[in-house]
Amino acid sequence: MHIETNKSLADFNTLALASTARFFVSVDSLESLRESVVWAESQNLDVLVLGGGSNVILPGSINALVIHPTVKGIDLEKVNEDDVLVTVGAGEGWHYFVSYCVEHGFFGLENLALIPGSCGAAPVQNIGAYGVEVKDLIHSLSAFDLETQSLRTFSNSECGFAYRESVFKNQHKGRYVILHVVFRLSTVPKVNVLYPALSAALGGNSHGATPKQVMDAVIGIRSKKLPDPSRVPNAGSFFKNPIISIEHYIAIKETYPDIPAYDAGAAHKKVAAAWLIESAGWKGRAVGDVEIHPEHALVLTNCGQADADDIFAVAQNIQADVFSKFGIQLEMEPQLFC
Ligand code: FAD
Ligand code: NAP
Repeated sequence: MHIETNKSLADFNTLALASTARFFVSVDSLESLRESVVWAESQNLDVLVLGGGSNVILPGSINALVIHPTVKGIDLEKVNEDDVLVTVGAGEGWHYFVSYCVEHGFFGLENLALIPGSCGAAPVQNIGAYGVEVKDLIHSLSAFDLETQSLRTFSNSECGFAYRESVFKNQHKGRYVILHVVFRLSTVPKVNVLYPALSAALGGNSHGATPKQVMDAVIGIRSKKLPDPSRVPNAGSFFKNPIISIEHYIAIKETYPDIPAYDAGAAHKKVAAAWLIESAGWKGRAVGDVEIHPEHALVLTNCGQADADDIFAVAQNIQADVFSKFGIQLEMEPQLFC
């Protein structure tokens, strides 16, 4: 166990916010995690878990022990001719894992290529893109309970997955450190190319595409469309796409016939948050060092020395303008790290 003090986290968050952790430790096993947690308890310190820092807003100083899981490894277990269970360590990079699976003939994750971050964080907000969410592929996971200091297995249903949600982001926020995630993947290629941008990128033969072609198409679209955090610091989509009632949607559509929306069950519609933000006049605007990306209204960028307060101030102004124009309360996707 190597505990660092006053550790700069500037390189541990994709918004490049200046932030210092009073204590920081990398843990590569259950044993080193347990040892670190016992040490934090002896010092009366809170414990916070940081993966790749691509979905958090870091405050300037963090008076806690920040635990950074680096547990590695990918293990396979054949279930039957068509399915495998693939267990991955929390510290493996998400995109590396997706590429590994596609390369080795384990299919299902290809639409989720190039999402930044670690495998341990993937269940936390049930990451999703291009019509696939990890909830459809996670079999189970193992997590260390900071309250009871014991290891627990969660089945898929116990994770409480929903749209960009799980128990780890809500009722159990901060309680568990995910160490391994088990995916049930198919050895039989089945591609999901329903998203228009994806089928367009694949051209006429999208349904006949291989999983590798789908992954490459996703990489191509994302590389062109989304700002690379290593050059333009950002945390991806800053707001979730809101789900509203059909009645609310019909009322808005009378005034704004172009509003993009998708079915979300029988009584609801999912509305494109980027369109709401652009319609409220925020796309491309900058307030101090916080800019709403000119190509992608859902992405807030730190174009200088912005801090967490600057980011939240702009986000709250966007929420207020969207609410006053459309009566829709946008919900932030990244959370304050505390
Ligand atoms: P962090 O940001 O470090 O942590 C996020 C949360 O998870 C924190 O609350 C943290 O405490 C907790 N956490 C992290 N690791 C663990 C662990 N091992 N155990 C328990 N809790 C843990 N998200 C999508 O859903 N779809 C996308 O398409 C997508 N695209 C993105 C594109 C860009 C350019 C960026 C910057 C972000 C994008 N995101 C997307 C958001 C983000 O990449 C994901 O949410 C990712 O899973 C976060 O992983 P991380 O390791 O960086 O987690
Ligand atoms: P896009 O293709 O321009 O589409 C805009 C929005 O419309 C998306 O957010 C998507 O919702 C929704 N959408 C499009 N086609 C749909 C369909 N057939 N059925 C249901 N919903 C549909 O989106 P984008 O911004 O370039 O992002 C592409 C994908 O990557 C999206 O899935 C997005 O969620 C994901 N992404 C996520 C983040 C993040 O930080 N969370 C960052 C970048 C990209 P959904 O978002 O619900 O899919």
